[in-house]
Amino acid sequence: MKILRNISLKQYNTFGIDVIAKQFVEIASPEELKQIIALYPDCFIIGGGSNMLLTKPIEKLVVKLNLKGIEETPCKTADNTVYVSALAGENWHDFVLWCISKNYGGLENLSLIPGSVGACPIQNIGAYGVEVKDSITKVEVLEVATSKIVSLTNADCQFGYRNSIFKSPLKDKYIILKVTFKLTTKQHQLHLDYGAVKLELGGLSSPSLSQISDAIIKIRASKLPNPKDIGNSGSFFKNPIISQKHFYKLLKSHPNMPFYKMEENLIKIPAGWLIEQCGLKGKRFGDAGVHNKQALVLVNYGKATGKDILKLAQLIQNSVKSAFKIDLQTEVNIFS
Ligand SMILES: Cc1cc2nc3c(=O)[nH]c(=O)nc-3n(C[C@H](O)[C@H](O)[C@H](O)COP(=O)(O)OP(=O)(O)OC[C@H]3O[C@@H](n4cnc5c(N)ncnc54)[C@H](O)[C@@H]3O)c2cc1C
Repeated sequence: MKILRNISLKQYNTFGIDVIAKQFVEIASPEELKQIIALYPDCFIIGGGSNMLLTKPIEKLVVKLNLKGIEETPCKTADNTVYVSALAGENWHDFVLWCISKNYGGLENLSLIPGSVGACPIQNIGAYGVEVKDSITKVEVLEVATSKIVSLTNADCQFGYRNSIFKSPLKDKYIILKVTFKLTTKQHQLHLDYGAVKLELGGLSSPSLSQISDAIIKIRASKLPNPKDIGNSGSFFKNPIISQKHFYKLLKSHPNMPFYKMEENLIKIPAGWLIEQCGLKGKRFGDAGVHNKQALVLVNYGKATGKDILKLAQLIQNSVKSAFKIDLQTEVNIFS
């Protein structure tokens, strides 16, 4: 365990933003993490760096979590269930593929989401009709204040749409070490409601987990820019949720507005559509831009700074606010 000084974080964040970490350390075990936390309780945790926008040098110690390991425990009471635990530093997509190779169902729709297992509960990652909260049974964390390992249940995590207790009340108080998932070994519950997924599967009525994963990988690769080619952090904004009254008012002037009905008379509007209506899809300001296939994704064409991307994000928020009276919230964690 060696603390390095003045390291560029360009290769550690998928936006490819070139900011300096004054101090940087890679951690391979919970024991090493405890030692580091005792000395630097106020550190900056980085997983895959795929959900962050860095706008200035990081003064805190940057801790890259490389904790690796997967273990499985059969369920004693149900023969079609297995519990699988993965350490925080496991790559999320590799973990999903490992589950599929064992024919463990539940995570296949979340294929190809970048990042680490440790970050998956933080914003309750979701895609194609599935959220990770549906499979998580336990999250083990290191409590920074006491250096104690605490076990949280699914209910403790207070999961919501791209949200959990780790995003606000417990932000920076806990470091996630391990996540346990409840998966199926047979009679999988497949989620094939998305039109694009159905289409890609060509009408197969009971596809295998790997056929679903392959279909989703293909759809994602065709729609989303690969951070290896163009820097980005996936969806920059959350899809806003508005009241029915607000929705019907907007529908009068925008009869083709797409929407999803939610519980409690709330309506979710695709943020990408709102951005597109403001004429911003595909727009480029220097090296900061709005992706030309998916307006929800902001991109770094090469040398954009975090501040350039932030400025573009604010322009988008202002445009959407003035056209639709909707406040777009960022999904990406901004460090400014
Ligand atoms: C191309 C692309 C597509 C994407 N598609 C999706 C999608 O479909 N659905 C979706 O939900 N998300 C998506 N994302 C967002 C991203 O993949 C997820 O949010 C992912 O879970 C982030 O993981 P990470 O390890 O990269 O987190 P990081 O970016 O490293 O960290 C994010 C935040 O969590 C904190 N953190 C990280 N690890 C820990 C830990 N172990 N303990 C405590 N705090 C920690 C960090 O300090 C930071 O505040 C996409 C991103 C990209 C680039």
